[in-house]
Amino acid sequence: MTEIAYISIGSNLNNPQQQVITAVTELNEILNTKVAAVSHWYRTSPMGPQDQPDYINGVAKLETKLSPQQLLKALQTIEDGHFRERKEHWGARTLDLDILLCGNQTIDLPNLQIPHPGITTRNFVLLPLADIGPQLVLPDGTALATLLESCSSKGIVRLSSGDICGTTG
Ligand code: AMP
Repeated sequence: MTEIAYISIGSNLNNPQQQVITAVTELNEILNTKVAAVSHWYRTSPMGPQDQPDYINGVAKLETKLSPQQLLKALQTIEDGHFRERKEHWGARTLDLDILLCGNQTIDLPNLQIPHPGITTRNFVLLPLADIGPQLVLPDGTALATLLESCSSKGIVRLSSGDICGTTG
């Protein structure tokens, strides 16, 4: 069965623009998976520790035949390839890939929660998600449009295609 999954992409180290562009290519290379759409890219202020660079964030829409656990493993392999180090919670990172949604599935396991717990409050997730899935409804029935109504635009700037190459933004 093919499922639609939305993946949050973020980076704030080692040429973040390049990191996120490369990540999209690598997402498209995952077995039995293809990238169906990519949001605009956004420059965002860091969450948590403020002594780190701004992030580049976006969201990719995947069509995948993988299970959520298989997809998580594939994302972690891509992160590892970007020399991602897992040190500080919310600390700087070369690449962060999170599964936001996977069809209408709800998963609550120690290593995997879907929808991703940050989805409802993070503007750097909600705004790019709305670029490519404005009609989305979460498994609990909450419309993305409703979440957007209370979403702050503080600390987030949409980049134009001139700011970042090889994108739809
Ligand atoms: P992070 O530091 O944000 O990359 O978090 C990584 C950890 O979050 C990993 O140990 C994953 O097992 C866990 N995790 C839980 N839910 C998700 C999800 N929906 N997408 C990606 N990682 C997840």
